[in-house]
Amino acid sequence: MATPMTPAQWRAALKAEGVKVTEYDGWTTRGRDAATGKPFGPVHGVLNHHTVATNSLKSIAVDGRPDLPAPLAHSHLAKTGTVTLVSCHRANHAGLAAANVIDAIIAERKLPKQNKATTVDGNDCLYGIEVENLGDQKDAYTRAQYDALVRYNAAICRHHDWGAGSVAGHLETSVEGKVDPRGPVEGYGTRGKFSLTMAQLRTDVDERLKHPASWSPGTATAYTVVKGDTLWSIAASKLGDGNRWKEIADLNGLKDADAITPGQKLKLPAK
Ligand SMILES: [Zn+2]
Repeated sequence: MATPMTPAQWRAALKAEGVKVTEYDGWTTRGRDAATGKPFGPVHGVLNHHTVATNSLKSIAVDGRPDLPAPLAHSHLAKTGTVTLVSCHRANHAGLAAANVIDAIIAERKLPKQNKATTVDGNDCLYGIEVENLGDQKDAYTRAQYDALVRYNAAICRHHDWGAGSVAGHLETSVEGKVDPRGPVEGYGTRGKFSLTMAQLRTDVDERLKHPASWSPGTATAYTVVKGDTLWSIAASKLGDGNRWKEIADLNGLKDADAITPGQKLKLPAK
């Protein structure tokens, strides 16, 4: 049984994790609890969404949609990587969720396919974050945005003593055919462009939870090849381990380990 975070706990958890946060006016009192007669909680996990829109903060916080009153999430994540808190109470974001998936989130088991025969109201028990992205598989999540998304999910998990198995995507819980979140990501840490998948996000949250909240993922540094270099010698001198030459090859898309020439620019992974 996990009790929803208080405003003070939200602020402390996100600050400790290094998330840039702003607060939307009224976020500590805004919610759907009174209107629905259903209190928020106990909470079981974090649900990730994409907005399918730009400049969607106000609609998520206060305007809602014609068919759905706001708040439409607990938080909004802009392209800049700034998280805006819009509610800490019941929010309209999850819709109907498959009970078998919610059970798996509670147990932090591998998520099964949705059994649509038995559903629960996901808004009862899931935190929701709307990440600004068109969801058209072309619009990219920025580096700052994805980094903040990992930190946000990890902050909530760390607060509740959950693992990355408590992180889910709307496409995994919904019985209404949702596809979010999805799309290309500019990069993360030493990783270049990749596709946002929930498996990858959980892996990145899991990695983050192995470190203190103040941790930051290493980022690539630049190196210019000089005469006599091999990937092995570069790995040995710059990373302290020649056997890490393969990481340099992967990071730079090199198929032949010997195919480097003086003057060539390489990206090196974190030491
Ligand atoms: Zn969604």
